[in-house]
Amino acid sequence: MPLQDGAELRTALADANIQTLLMVYVHLTHDEAVLEQFAPHIHPVFSGRPSDIPDGLAAELREKLLHVLTTPGAAVAEPLPPTLMQRMMSVGVGEPVDDEYLPLLREQMGFEIPEPRLAQPGRAVPSERFRVLVIGAGLTGLAAGIKLREAGYDHVIIEKNPEVGGTWYENTYPGVGVDTPSHFYSYSFAINPDWTTYHPKGHEMQDYLLRVADRYDLRRNIRFETRVVACRFDEAEQLWNVTVRDKAGVETVIAANAVINAHGPLNRWSWPKIDGLEDFLGQKLHTAAWDASIDLKGKKVGVIGTGASASQLVPAIAPEVGDLTVFMRSKHWVIYNPEITSVVTEGKRWALRHIPHYREWFRFRVYWAAADGLFVNVLKDPEWPADSPSVSAHNEAMRQYCLGHLHATFADRPDLIEKLTPDFPVFSKRIVLDAGWFDALKRDNVQLETGAIDRILPDGVRMADGTVHKLDVLIMATGFDVANMVGSLEIIGRGGRNLGQEWGADDPRAYLGITVPGYPNLFLTVGPNSAPNHAAGQNLISETQIHYIIECLDLITASGARAIEPTHEAFIGWNDMIDRRMPEMIWTHPKAKSYYNNSKGRPFLSWPFRLVDYWNQTRKPIPDHFSLT
Ligand code: NAP
Repeated sequence: MPLQDGAELRTALADANIQTLLMVYVHLTHDEAVLEQFAPHIHPVFSGRPSDIPDGLAAELREKLLHVLTTPGAAVAEPLPPTLMQRMMSVGVGEPVDDEYLPLLREQMGFEIPEPRLAQPGRAVPSERFRVLVIGAGLTGLAAGIKLREAGYDHVIIEKNPEVGGTWYENTYPGVGVDTPSHFYSYSFAINPDWTTYHPKGHEMQDYLLRVADRYDLRRNIRFETRVVACRFDEAEQLWNVTVRDKAGVETVIAANAVINAHGPLNRWSWPKIDGLEDFLGQKLHTAAWDASIDLKGKKVGVIGTGASASQLVPAIAPEVGDLTVFMRSKHWVIYNPEITSVVTEGKRWALRHIPHYREWFRFRVYWAAADGLFVNVLKDPEWPADSPSVSAHNEAMRQYCLGHLHATFADRPDLIEKLTPDFPVFSKRIVLDAGWFDALKRDNVQLETGAIDRILPDGVRMADGTVHKLDVLIMATGFDVANMVGSLEIIGRGGRNLGQEWGADDPRAYLGITVPGYPNLFLTVGPNSAPNHAAGQNLISETQIHYIIECLDLITASGARAIEPTHEAFIGWNDMIDRRMPEMIWTHPKAKSYYNNSKGRPFLSWPFRLVDYWNQTRKPIPDHFSLT
């Protein structure tokens, strides 16, 4: 259906990203000649060489596209040939996009939304008596709900909160936002053209998840304000007995054939172990459990922690508080992305909403820049000096970029440059995005305290050198217990084995981060060594893991079995592969210390390959790696 030629379309074309418009034009016309005209002018995003598309060429493209979009029959009716699509991708990002990426890109960019499994001819239909229980209705649990329904699996989602959203429901501290780009950090099957900024605030992300829950009518399968406390496997019945506790404290047991644990890695918070914290007589709060009734206006406020949460909170509260002391235990690399606070102009949003294929091609560009394009940063160059604060030329270039921003921001504050310059490589610890963080640290009412905390006093914080900071309010931005992946759950598998005990406090292991021998039909999400710590992409991993889990369920269904679990050999083999790879990765640099690594220094969280590798490895379970009973 052609678009109407009018002010909105013309504004959108003038405003929209020119590389994306090129993709749209070629998609609609298959005009390879135009593509090749642009090719020499588009350079990779991290090449340090900005694209140099001549204005005349851009103007000509806009005119041609206006014609194609508004003229009946001007667009080619045939589907885009795969070879042309691949060439478009390569030209669009100024570097080769290899074959291995194509299936992932077709799915994840939304070009090819997979058919619901129930509609697939010849597929064995799940038994009505096979029930799946999902723990958590956050980003991953909601995806599980959507895909389980599309696959015909009876399921219930148990959610401790009164509403969906998980992290985005719970985190309401001032300034909370998304520091990965949401045009990619969102479901590939529910692309949102309406993000108001590239890195929206938390409420906008939460609104998106609420809309997804509405659109897919997910709440009818969710039991809210109920917490899963234990999952015990009954070997005779091949069932999980899942104990849940409602808000009145009443416990019941739900029998489920399979359990998908989507309880999330970033919500187990506790008060940090700092001497005297319990003696503090002022108001005390944690970013993950914000109390909006606490009035910060004019108060003396302390913030402990300088990670992603603190860096969003501090700029948001600094203008209203009296004095703000930020306590930094160790440094973080801070990256400046000029888009972090940019709004998506109305013209661009119109393009995302109305111009055919614009949103998919835009998502493709964002994916490339924010995801696997960053992988080079986390791979050690074996020739690079081991004692260097970087691990490769790419990683050093990123370090220089960060240093450039640091020095430019604090040209008049050498004290802060010294306090804020890390000695470890960028990306060896979760990076912090600068959306006002550095500017906040320069304010007259903000001071950055880098000394060691001796103890918390009833009215403040005493430092090791005896300095006392008097405080009315003390805020912990101290993060989460990520390594204790079982959390408060008791998970008892075959023969009474206990997953929490097997993993200990911080040494979780699984096969593909999803299944564990001895725990049939128990599926983890964001499990050990499956997090994309080189880049954005948690959404992709979540979707991919749900896909794989349903493939496992389908294998059970098709084979007439009742349960599936990985073999010990497959589990050992996969973990050996991870362990062999880790010395090549930035997270094993001698100075790398972060919540990615456990107390023995083992990176237990990070997936040490690209997103595309994880996606390709999780298309289907390898039957030899599993036993079916
Ligand atoms: P975090 O990254 O773990 O940072 C916690 C901070 O508190 C660190 O600076 C840490 O210091 C400090 N700290 C912890 N315990 C302490 C103690 N006992 N004494 C003094 N300082 C202490 O936690 P977060 O900032 O809440 O972020 C957690 C994760 O949530 C992020 O890495 C990110 O994945 C996610 N997140 C995402 C967004 C987003 O925009 N997408 C926003 C917020 C959070 P050390 O550095 O010395 O450990």
